[in-house]
Amino acid sequence: MARNHILIVEDEEDIAELLRHHLAREGYGITVAGHGEEAVKAVSRKKPELILLDLMLPGLDGLEVCRRLKKEPRTASIPIIMVTAKGDEGDVVAGLELGADDYIAKPFSMKVLVARVRAMLRRVDHVPDQSIPLRIHDLVINPGRHEVLIKGKPVEMTVSELRILHLLAGRPGWVMTRGQIVDAVRGEDYAVTDRAVDVQIVGLRKKLGARSDYIETVRGVGYRFKEQLP
Ligand code: CA
Repeated sequence: MARNHILIVEDEEDIAELLRHHLAREGYGITVAGHGEEAVKAVSRKKPELILLDLMLPGLDGLEVCRRLKKEPRTASIPIIMVTAKGDEGDVVAGLELGADDYIAKPFSMKVLVARVRAMLRRVDHVPDQSIPLRIHDLVINPGRHEVLIKGKPVEMTVSELRILHLLAGRPGWVMTRGQIVDAVRGEDYAVTDRAVDVQIVGLRKKLGARSDYIETVRGVGYRFKEQLP
């Protein structure tokens, strides 16, 4: 099996070296980029399976790197773990809204960081590729372009709603538990509740309008996308 390749974006050389050392020891292939422009170039040369992205970078900062990668269909599905300094809460929120997948604050324990990287790669392996456009019944879901069409007409959705819809529609007829939905949408260590999933589903159904019954509630278990239409 090809080993997973990780891009480390970090301008502080000693931190970059420490990360490189520990992650290489775990068997990952590593590329280090010392600034934002270099990171974007490195991704276009060789698409990594995961990016560790320091936010405070000279020149093109981490948020801008995140914005560029997440808006490009070819690179939007690469998971990004932001590495943040103390007091960066605003940037963390902005980064998550841009589509970054997780964050870890400096100073971090190398053990925790390695565990997060592993968890993220495991999750990516299990979730159907969220960048692949889906066409089912009269729905088209194109996460890379952040676009949902019903009978060719665009429907506005939030990032979370689109991800949930993509997850369910990716496996029609399969029941997804609320826990699986939380994992797929947010990652394993967020305090997202089952109730929050229910709220997202209510919003999603509202936006699907006449097609709201594509999403079935499976009492006591979770949700499923209708395989066959009546
Ligand atoms: Ca930095």
